[in-house]
Amino acid sequence: MSSTPTSTLRHERVRHDLAVRPMTVTAWRDLTPRMRRVTLAGPMGGFTSPGPGDHVKVFFPDPATGVLNAPRVVDGRLERPAGEVVARDYTPLVTAHGELELDLVVHGDDGPASAWASRVTAGAELVVAGPRGSKLAPEGADWYVLAGDETALPAISRWLGMLPDDADVTVLVEVQDAADEAYLGALGSPHPVTYLHRGAAAPGTTTLLADAVRALPAREGAGFWWLAGESQSLVPARRYLRRELGLSQDAVDCSGYWRRGAADHDHHAPVDPQDPDQ
Ligand SMILES: Cc1cc2nc3c(=O)[nH]c(=O)nc-3n(C[C@H](O)[C@H](O)[C@H](O)COP(=O)(O)OP(=O)(O)OC[C@H]3O[C@@H](n4cnc5c(N)ncnc54)[C@H](O)[C@@H]3O)c2cc1C
Repeated sequence: MSSTPTSTLRHERVRHDLAVRPMTVTAWRDLTPRMRRVTLAGPMGGFTSPGPGDHVKVFFPDPATGVLNAPRVVDGRLERPAGEVVARDYTPLVTAHGELELDLVVHGDDGPASAWASRVTAGAELVVAGPRGSKLAPEGADWYVLAGDETALPAISRWLGMLPDDADVTVLVEVQDAADEAYLGALGSPHPVTYLHRGAAAPGTTTLLADAVRALPAREGAGFWWLAGESQSLVPARRYLRRELGLSQDAVDCSGYWRRGAADHDHHAPVDPQDPDQ
């Protein structure tokens, strides 16, 4: 798949004021057997999130003690708490009524965020910080490819909501099975989605996404590729796009949203440590 020229893509980044919001769960529901939506109430004044791939840092109660430690903003500066913090990144979704929603993959009790989500009740408390900044959808793209696993679904839903209905968008999503398709299906988006079912394979262990990326036909024009999901499983797709196709950094945004076997994976870590220009 070729995608020249790519130099016409323009990426605008916006910084936001520091904000840390104590939030209370008002409702929750299952969107699919593995995706739970929690609706949060709290001080949403000034909340802004114009980038489709934005994230907030969510502070959870310590699963061992139940204590919720989180930073505070004092005189415009972040003041860190004395105790241990348990924080993970999530994609913020804002309803028409201005409520904040988070869609959490429930993947088991090995992660505090997933364990919290699986037992959530109305009245539960969280602290939400950010977003600190936003990377706006690029200008100048003739077409887009959005690819990811279940953790990328909230961001993909934001992309589909922000791009025009007549935009040229290819969506590739790796999920466990057909039950997970209800998530994007509920959007009523005009853009078709190709689902890749991993079935009994563990999340983050297949080459389904990489194979699907490689199988896409060559296209002319300026393409923009957005990929997110399990970090190591993204490596072959990223190498194909950056090394084999020679696409520029501007044309490929690839984020490791989690890493198999690692708690609290840092998404700023390079997806491909062998790639020097990440
Ligand atoms: C920018 C950004 C946006 C994100 N948005 C979302 C979002 O909207 N919704 C969402 O659900 N996730 C999202 N994620 C991913 C989420 O932050 C991670 O999955 C996180 O690790 C979950 O924390 P945890 O406490 O459940 O597990 P951790 O304590 O981090 O990990 C414990 C164990 O669980 C494994 N694990 C972690 N996540 C998964 C998973 N999804 N499936 C299977 N095993 C897993 C780890 O490999 C580890 O072995 C986002 C990540 C980033 C960087």
